Amino acid sequence: MATTTVANARQDGAAVEDATGRSHQADVRRGAEIRSSPALDVLRTELHLSRDAGVPVRMWWRDDDLVANSRGFDALIGLARTFRAPLLVAIIPGLASEALDVSEADPDLIDFCQHGWRHINHQPLGGGKSEFGAGRDPEAVEAEIAAGQVALARLLGDRSRPIFVPPWNAFDERHLDIVRARGFTGLSTFGPRPRAFAVDGLRLANTHLDILQWEAPGGPRPVPFDDACLRLARIVREQREKPEADAEPIGILSHHRAMREESWSLLEGLLSAFAGVPGVSWLTPSQVFAPPPA
Ligand SMILES: [Zn+2]
Repeated sequence: MATTTVANARQDGAAVEDATGRSHQADVRRGAEIRSSPALDVLRTELHLSRDAGVPVRMWWRDDDLVANSRGFDALIGLARTFRAPLLVAIIPGLASEALDVSEADPDLIDFCQHGWRHINHQPLGGGKSEFGAGRDPEAVEAEIAAGQVALARLLGDRSRPIFVPPWNAFDERHLDIVRARGFTGLSTFGPRPRAFAVDGLRLANTHLDILQWEAPGGPRPVPFDDACLRLARIVREQREKPEADAEPIGILSHHRAMREESWSLLEGLLSAFAGVPGVSWLTPSQVFAPPPA
């Protein structure tokens, strides 16, 4: 792949103020009540067609930009528990608080990994953002990734998985060998993956639905629930129609720091939509980023 930059997965999360899950509990209740719509029916129909065809619907969930404890982070943990949905949280190592405490995050549900270094854009103005674009000096890239690993090991110990999530889902392929050489076995960006391994030994597992619209006036807004359902329905259908070897887990992308009430409601509604549906499973990061069969 020339580059993994994806234009519609803009995520300026690191620049967003820490908007946490205010009134989250009330919001979740509302989210559970409102979920009935023709678009949801379309999604459910696709899920049932996959089940009838014997094609498992494999979901996974990634949240980006963790730097500190907050009500939003607590809300994230709460949703993972409620739906028994495993979650991979990508931490910005160079911005993370020394006081970050992940001990409340259930080890069987929530894993952590590295989200770049400091979430700094090095690309020229006007183009897609990237911390690790083509123009970066490989030695600087390696030094930053290594510094991030050191920071995360100090903060998280063995809670950190060897998975690399580049900021803005953008990472130039010329730096992939650095990621592999630093010991990572997984890479995650956005959009249909071009192949199952970015390079040998580096499993590629992407997200496919970003629940936020980053360009909305006044800051990030949730994608409308019906749009999210229809997009997921299309992805479920596409996965069903692919050869088995090309199938990939379907990833939901959230950003807890940039989410306000309606975004929490959307996330909860989407998790509800898949809950208890036969043939649907939520994969752990260990399953999503499994090594190749021996
Ligand atoms: Zn980010």
